[in-house]
Amino acid sequence: MASGATAATPSPTVCIVGAGPAGLSIARALKARGIAYEQFERHCDVGGIWDMSNPGTPMYRSAHFISSRNTSGFYDFPMPTDYPDYPSNRQILDYTRSFARAFGLYDAIRFGTAVEHAEQDGDGWSVRLAGGETRRYTALVCATGVNWSPRLPRHPGTFNGEIRHSVSYKSADEFRGKRVLVIGAGNSGADIACDAAANADAAFISVRRGYHFIPKHIFGVPADEFGEKGPQMPMWLERPLFTALLKMVVGDVTRWGLPKPDHRLFESHPLLNTQLLHYLQHGDIGARGDVERYDGDEVVFRDGTRERIDLVLYATGYDMKIPYVPDDYFDWAGGRPQMYLTAFNRRHRNLFGLGYLEINSSAYTLFDRISHMVAQYLEDQQQAPQRAAAFDALIRDDRPVLSGPLKMVDSDRHKGYLDAATYKRYIETLRKRMGWPALVPGCYDRIRVAAGATAPAASAAEQERAA
Ligand SMILES: Cc1cc2nc3c(=O)[nH]c(=O)nc-3n(C[C@H](O)[C@H](O)[C@H](O)COP(=O)(O)OP(=O)(O)OC[C@H]3O[C@@H](n4cnc5c(N)ncnc54)[C@H](O)[C@@H]3O)c2cc1C
Repeated sequence: MASGATAATPSPTVCIVGAGPAGLSIARALKARGIAYEQFERHCDVGGIWDMSNPGTPMYRSAHFISSRNTSGFYDFPMPTDYPDYPSNRQILDYTRSFARAFGLYDAIRFGTAVEHAEQDGDGWSVRLAGGETRRYTALVCATGVNWSPRLPRHPGTFNGEIRHSVSYKSADEFRGKRVLVIGAGNSGADIACDAAANADAAFISVRRGYHFIPKHIFGVPADEFGEKGPQMPMWLERPLFTALLKMVVGDVTRWGLPKPDHRLFESHPLLNTQLLHYLQHGDIGARGDVERYDGDEVVFRDGTRERIDLVLYATGYDMKIPYVPDDYFDWAGGRPQMYLTAFNRRHRNLFGLGYLEINSSAYTLFDRISHMVAQYLEDQQQAPQRAAAFDALIRDDRPVLSGPLKMVDSDRHKGYLDAATYKRYIETLRKRMGWPALVPGCYDRIRVAAGATAPAASAAEQERAA
């Protein structure tokens, strides 16, 4: 039992922590099977990081989805057709809330209630809520996201300017009148550097390694949609073909001061940003190498060059953390919890994680596929115990390699990186082997309720649309 906790009161079977997109996905899957659950969200509404009023969110005003509208929605719940190819953060928030309304998920969520501690208690889970109440469940689903614990490297020296992590960056106004250095060129870093290029007095981006820049559209189709629906090729053919295509469209990025990529295409998480190239090509941002140290008003780079800088923003990513569950319940590698199929804890029965994955595709449909498996396994524990025991054995012993043909660079981010096609193929084979039903269009229709029926007032954007 959690120390100092009051006696646990009996509760429904499953506790879901978090009501971001992942938490909503598992809620729908459980609800559709009639599996009782309770969901806790520390913020006052659903939406996770996409809600800019959620304290600590890394979201910023200019952020758009990096994956595209038609490939990125929840299963069998497409995004509105009047959304652009790459929806804005506000549109993703509206869409996520309309999902929660459409399936009547609001009612089971306790808002303003953080889970503070959870631990195994006999054959169940004891969960302590903010305020001290403790409740007991048979299963615990952690769906609290991976973008809340900023990774902030330290560089030596003293700096007179301001140093921040990109998690605190919200709007381009913050750059006005300043000389800005963004460190890191992941997708957020590249976006934020573009805001700096257009709004700061001077803008620089520091990159440690070279990247392949993938255009957002290929033949006029969003790149990921082209990848999923275009001609399917084996990696030995796809890689040289796309390398040639990028050579033609993007060319030699070292001309704009960026390092030559030290890895082949598809060996690191792709950088889907041609806007940054635009600003580099127009001299609105300067590319610099690795930072060595600070020296008063200046940043000194490894090649000996220096820049006078007012604001340094570290866009250096996040550590995955599940702070309310004892750390040793999970096996960690490179700051990532290692679980069977990214979701099933191998040592603690009925401890699940949803959303703790790095993958070369959009996440939501994948969340739904994983939720479908978790819900089926929980149902089996009640209705088909032999089949549940067979899956228990898989959780313990099955160690599939899910990186497929991808040979990723050796960095923390790429530990356990999944190839979406390989992952989907594997769980589909597993589903058939287990005799589990398929996820099919319409399978959630019976829990659909009238849109907006159980939710707070529709957002401004939705009202505009309705009008
Ligand atoms: C800039 C940016 C762009 C992105 N673009 C894409 C994209 O194009 N496509 C894509 O698929 N993904 C994208 N992502 C990934 C993004 O993380 C997912 O879209 C999605 O938000 C993950 O959902 P989640 O539910 O796992 O986590 P979150 O969105 O982080 O939600 C977790 C929820 O848990 C709550 N919570 C946390 N701790 C507790 C606690 N102890 N008790 C109760 N509640 C708690 C939080 O308040 C939050 O509401 C992007 C991410 C970023 C930062």
